[in-house]
Amino acid sequence: MQHISSFIPKALDIIAPTDRVKAEPGDYMGEDGLLRCGACGARKETRLPIDGRYSRCSCLCELARIAEEEEERERRKAMEKVQEMAACSLVDAKFKESTFSRFVAETEEDARVLRICRNYVKRFSEMAENNTGLIFFGGPGTGKTFAASCIANALMRLGVPVLATSIVRLTASAFDGDLNALLNRMNAAELLVLDDFGAERNTEFKAEQLFAVIDARYAAKKPMVITTNLTDFKTETDVRRRRVYDRVFEVCIPVKMDGESKRRAAGQEKRNAMMAVLEA
Ligand SMILES: [Zn+2]
Repeated sequence: MQHISSFIPKALDIIAPTDRVKAEPGDYMGEDGLLRCGACGARKETRLPIDGRYSRCSCLCELARIAEEEEERERRKAMEKVQEMAACSLVDAKFKESTFSRFVAETEEDARVLRICRNYVKRFSEMAENNTGLIFFGGPGTGKTFAASCIANALMRLGVPVLATSIVRLTASAFDGDLNALLNRMNAAELLVLDDFGAERNTEFKAEQLFAVIDARYAAKKPMVITTNLTDFKTETDVRRRRVYDRVFEVCIPVKMDGESKRRAAGQEKRNAMMAVLEA
């Protein structure tokens, strides 16, 4: 004969017949004589047909809470994995200060970029689902890194695992480690911010390895936000680099930033102020 315990689902918390589930405010007794949740109306206890014992069960609210906790645990785990990568991360004081509240839109173009960045954050789940990233391109000092960092910071604040780094930093650690392991860890990030794409052209980093980084992201169907000073995407003759660009543009929407150099403007402003001091 089968033992009675084999009839009882393991997940159920068996309690003595007199030991009913304690009612919380709002809970009520159903017509079947079983306690029901006041919020969702689902049963909080069931009665085992075999011996009439009561056992606790989860109402819809509790199931939702359990799922939420599980999700939170997963999110925290992913976040921890990303934080492990701090060694190749871009996170410095300047990065931390790059927030939308400091984004001063002086020109129409600035306002457009700010709008794009904000909307990217607001619609991130949709962007991620469609593996859609951004590539900010334009001359040096036009605020590309700032724009990308604003996105990264805003998403991090929302609890999204973001890895902000540059190919040069990534590859520096990839060279003495296992590239595949690095790529796997990189993909724990929901968003990868790659700053100064193209700067690796002057390093030993090979186009194949660059492709490996971009392709790992592509295969994982996870988005990237890239900044670059490069403008010769269309005229690049190196086949291997072309392959990298093609893949980047397949998943990243180009955002042109070629306004006046903000660094230059800031420098000029300071010089003007100093000149005023000298001429006083
Ligand atoms: Zn409930």
